[in-house]
Amino acid sequence: MQKIPAVLGGPPAFARQIPVTRPTLRVDDDVLASMRAVLESGMTTNATEVAAFEREVADYLGVGHVVAVSSCTTGLMLLLQALGVRGEVVVPSFTFMASGHAVRWNGLPVTFADVAAETWTLDGPSLDRVLGPTTGAVLAVHTFGAPAPVEELERICAARDIPLIVDSAHGFGARYPSGSMVGSGATAEVFSLSPTKPFSAGEGGLITTNDGSLAAELRLAREYGNPGDYDSRFAGLNGRMPELSAVVGRATLRDFPGWIERRRGLAGRYAERLVPVPGLTFQRLPQGALGSHKDLVVRVDPAAFGLNRAELSTCLHAENISTRHYFDPPLHRQTAYRSAGLPGPLPVTDRLSEQALTLPLYSHMRAEEIDRIADAIWAVHSDAGRLRDRVSDSRSLAYGGSR
Ligand SMILES: *Cc1c(COP(=O)(O)O)cnc(C)c1O
Repeated sequence: MQKIPAVLGGPPAFARQIPVTRPTLRVDDDVLASMRAVLESGMTTNATEVAAFEREVADYLGVGHVVAVSSCTTGLMLLLQALGVRGEVVVPSFTFMASGHAVRWNGLPVTFADVAAETWTLDGPSLDRVLGPTTGAVLAVHTFGAPAPVEELERICAARDIPLIVDSAHGFGARYPSGSMVGSGATAEVFSLSPTKPFSAGEGGLITTNDGSLAAELRLAREYGNPGDYDSRFAGLNGRMPELSAVVGRATLRDFPGWIERRRGLAGRYAERLVPVPGLTFQRLPQGALGSHKDLVVRVDPAAFGLNRAELSTCLHAENISTRHYFDPPLHRQTAYRSAGLPGPLPVTDRLSEQALTLPLYSHMRAEEIDRIADAIWAVHSDAGRLRDRVSDSRSLAYGGSR
């Protein structure tokens, strides 16, 4: 029997709020013993855990060098500095604010390009149109864990002799169409290990590159630019990863291959259940690529679904299902970026930011929870006509935050 939507008086799909995501962390006696050893040694920074973590990640990703830092934002800031980028940096507007902030912290102007309509990652033709003689670098993003078309973007950048770097905050565990791991592409890539990402160490970032001299420069940069003689070579930062974070990261990495497989299976289950819903569209991965599924995002076409994204969100919150509106507003519509370069309209970004809805997904989520979420969405679609009258002014319904 079809469920009655909670907004129309049915029992909510869940008795307690399902979060939009949760980190999957290992908590066992081994991890706690390693943390204890770090604390007892008093060597909470620049000791052995971070160095071991860097080697283990390099092995897993198949990349020459890994430089652990305090966050992805810090890593991107230091990377742009180390590359000596001058001129504007092209960034997709459909991303998290930190992609743009890292550019701004280097005193560089940001220029926006659009994303592709089906993959939602930086669009080659759009990038080509905004490149100019003063462009200094391109920053792509593996949006929601779908690999950006790095080979195509690298060809475009190589023709102009500018570096391509990737904000890989979402991409840990994903694979390029070639089969190589995300993290092994472009001039360098930067991961985030903060709690909402598919691979977390509590907090932290990882810069990956096959360029040994760039890696050496970044190691200096995360240490104030001080090689040890207290004669700083440039204005670096304290961008270090704490030893305790590396303990968490190493333990999490051991289980990660199994968890990412499971996460892919869960994303597949969502697709199986929701692709047939009229008006819902999923992000397309490049042919042959594997995603990390940082977020499970559907695009809601209001005409075909019967309700718009905000109205569907309101209905799902009543079912105790958390949602997010990533990335709304997109960067070019945020106050901080009003003065940024906007060489033309960004129609795909504007439509996505209006229609994209993030549903709950985490690696240890139960498949049965996804089925219940899918059932709730089907029920909302079936009753869309009656629901629209109730939720059309979504602000009038109280729920725990609209974002
Ligand atoms: C989370 C995120 C970041 C920032 O990562 P931090 O580790 O918190 O600095 C950067 N870019 C994107 C796309 C993100 O989602």
